[in-house]
Amino acid sequence: MFAKNHQVPILKRYTADLHIHTTLSPCADLDMGPVNIIRKVRSLGIGIIAIADHHAVANIPAVMEHAGSAPPLVIPGIEVQTKEEVHLLCLFPDFPTLNDFAVLIRSKLPPFRNRAALFGEQVVVNAKEEILYFEEMLLVGSVAMSVENVALETKMRGGLLIPSHVDRPAYSLLANLGFLPPGLDVDALEIARPENLANLLTAHSALRGTTFITSSDAHFLRQMDTHYVTVFYLAEPSFEEVKLALGGKEGRKALIERRA
Ligand SMILES: [Zn+2]
Ligand SMILES: [Zn+2]
Repeated sequence: MFAKNHQVPILKRYTADLHIHTTLSPCADLDMGPVNIIRKVRSLGIGIIAIADHHAVANIPAVMEHAGSAPPLVIPGIEVQTKEEVHLLCLFPDFPTLNDFAVLIRSKLPPFRNRAALFGEQVVVNAKEEILYFEEMLLVGSVAMSVENVALETKMRGGLLIPSHVDRPAYSLLANLGFLPPGLDVDALEIARPENLANLLTAHSALRGTTFITSSDAHFLRQMDTHYVTVFYLAEPSFEEVKLALGGKEGRKALIERRA
């Protein structure tokens, strides 16, 4: 009996930024629309991005539409703040799956109205960056769900779970819980400043062997000019390949490199 396919596919190198906010996040700049984001991403040679606003997804179709079939691959995502005030990046294989998750997340947000003068406008746009409407529900704050709950709901839908900026002193898994809960099924941990990685691994030796990525967490276009980038080696740019790479499976891999 012959094994089906022993050929290792040719892997290509893609730089990625899996954590970008849009005008829908109240704290993000009004320049963070689809046209500007995609232009900036292309100028940086980034092949894969994820859009992840706070508790909302309404700008993602416009970014996907504007990118079209040309690079970058746009992975739909959302950034959730759990009741422990931990930020989690949840990425999904397609928009309908993300949207299903986002409906649940929204139902767990406290029903406060946004005060734009205080928090910033929450702007929903189309692919040409024309304003469609202003989201009125305040999108920042914690949802009434635990880290464990959000993880389960993400995984149930085939999503990727990546705790955000774990090296930051606030809104991070390691700062708020003190450790990576055993059994929490993370695909990777995001580090805001890869310069901190050695110290982080000294303080949390249990994290050795965990996949780390870095992202811009950009709320302003210029924040995408990061010193470090995540690099993926994939057979093709797709959600499934990114998932394999984060798991270090089938030769695929994810690394943090200094930007050339
Ligand atoms: Zn965050
Ligand atoms: Zn963020």
